[in-house]
Amino acid sequence: MRITAVGGGPAGLYAAVLLAQQGHDVTVVERNPAGVTHGWGVVFWEPLLASLRESDPVSAAQIADAAFAWDGQDVDVEGRGRVARPSGGYSISRQRLLDLLTARAQELGVHTVFEHDVAPGEAEADLVIAADGVGSAHRRALADDLGPTVDVGTNKYVWLATTKVYTSFLFAFVRSSAGWLWCHAYGYDADHSTFIVECSPQTWRALGLDRMGAEESRELLERLFARHLDGHPLVGLPTEPDAPLPWLEFRTLHCERWWSGRTVLAGDAAHTTHFAIGSGTTLALGDAIALARALEGPADVPAALERYQADRQAALAPSRRDARNSARWLEDLERYIDTDVDSFATLLHRRCSSLLAHLPPTVYVKAREVAERSGAARRVWSQASALRRSALVRRGS
Ligand SMILES: Cc1cc2nc3c(=O)[nH]c(=O)nc-3n(C[C@H](O)[C@H](O)[C@H](O)COP(=O)(O)OP(=O)(O)OC[C@H]3O[C@@H](n4cnc5c(N)ncnc54)[C@H](O)[C@@H]3O)c2cc1C
Repeated sequence: MRITAVGGGPAGLYAAVLLAQQGHDVTVVERNPAGVTHGWGVVFWEPLLASLRESDPVSAAQIADAAFAWDGQDVDVEGRGRVARPSGGYSISRQRLLDLLTARAQELGVHTVFEHDVAPGEAEADLVIAADGVGSAHRRALADDLGPTVDVGTNKYVWLATTKVYTSFLFAFVRSSAGWLWCHAYGYDADHSTFIVECSPQTWRALGLDRMGAEESRELLERLFARHLDGHPLVGLPTEPDAPLPWLEFRTLHCERWWSGRTVLAGDAAHTTHFAIGSGTTLALGDAIALARALEGPADVPAALERYQADRQAALAPSRRDARNSARWLEDLERYIDTDVDSFATLLHRRCSSLLAHLPPTVYVKAREVAERSGAARRVWSQASALRRSALVRRGS
């Protein structure tokens, strides 16, 4: 088959790598120049490496070599102290990941075209993989068939980096004159860390971040997070002198259907999950794996695409729930922030739980402590969570 992947992000490139190995004639078209992307490091965990090893051991080994291993999670609340929790995972620079996947795709004979913005309907191929990200023009053109819905979060966030290298994942909450701001920070190579800053829209406006240019915002954020930056700068600012920082609200996307005619969605074009659970890249790569698997064997393409859609919608359900709960927890920070730092760290760690929003935070923490001490209570606890989950599923939320 002649296949065009629109978008040279993780979904488009990894689908190209796998489909080229099945003997398809694959082209990836990316609108950015080679070596240019948005965003900084992304986290992932061992299960992703395991599934990459199964799908393409060559690129899996390269990604594992390039990965930065972080160890532990620190939760720091200004004025209350810091808690260190056992945890661990990996991260990698987005650019490095894309460079590795581009080189691997080219080695397998994939045609790569840069600096070309593909219009919907333009690609001449038997199958078009719309891997063109959350703003996908291809999805918008097929909106009547695909049924996309977007839920826009209320918090403001900006994806920056710093030259301070965090060897543990850091959640640091700082108190400003206008309310709380916090960072999600983790090293991703020997010289840099991702540094995402998030806050409520009220805090954002009251601090004047809605009106400031990038330099002024950087100075304010560096002052607020000075204790955590240790004199290192925030980097990743816009290059135009008067441009503001790219503050956004997270857009959670869901599509009823993932394919129409000869176009199939993959990655952020099909679904997004809030960045606080660090799963979008893993899910995009998972889409590529499932799509390639569905297309193996005799070519009944519509049946394969239907199978792919069913597989991935089922596989994504837990991540969608976790991401929704996690995003709501952070939007509801005032409900949790006044607890002592140990309880706060527990609540933050458990923010994906569906039960949490329905119990007073201190009751939840006590119940968990009891559950952790007693095997029997732990079973009751998981049954309660399962009942709550099935009630939510029945209500369709
Ligand atoms: C703040 C933040 C932090 C995140 N942290 C993590 C994390 O820690 N771990 C994790 O797993 N995920 C994380 N993610 C999510 C992750 O970045 C995305 O889920 C992932 O990049 C999706 O890959 P993709 O290939 O679907 O889309 P993208 O990476 O967005 O790639 C789409 C590509 O398509 C190109 N394109 C768009 N339109 C066209 C067109 N018409 N023609 C040609 N090219 C086009 C774009 O230029 C882009 O290169 C984070 C996201 C955010 C916002």
